[in-house]
Amino acid sequence: MRCLRCGYCCVKYPVVILDEDAEEEDGIRASIKPGGEACKHLSVVTEKGVQIAHCGIHDVPEYEQTPCAEFDQIGAPDAPCRIGHAITEGRFGYLFDLLAYVEGGKKDESC
Ligand code: SF4
Ligand code: SF4
Repeated sequence: MRCLRCGYCCVKYPVVILDEDAEEEDGIRASIKPGGEACKHLSVVTEKGVQIAHCGIHDVPEYEQTPCAEFDQIGAPDAPCRIGHAITEGRFGYLFDLLAYVEGGKKDESC
């Protein structure tokens, strides 16, 4: 699956993330990011006039050990993410506003 960087996963899902502020356990510092809140590593950048999600730890070696790196869907390895496709096409636009979560501090209690 090819992530389209809509940021949905980094906000909506509870996920184990690398966290330098957490206690070290088995040689790694990690915490659980609650569902409905923007990950502390998430920011929004603009490329070619489009706002996309940016993971601040995507390139550190330890990232490869995280659930984020292993996240996948049924389908061809290079197929675009179906959720991300619907969001970037605007079909979920009324449900998901990346900037509101990342920069506005919005939380989704339904997650
Ligand atoms: S660590 Fe990166 S990919 Fe994982 S939830 Fe946070 S911003 Fe998203
Ligand atoms: S929903 Fe898909 S495109 Fe959006 S962040 Fe998750 S994997 Fe990437």
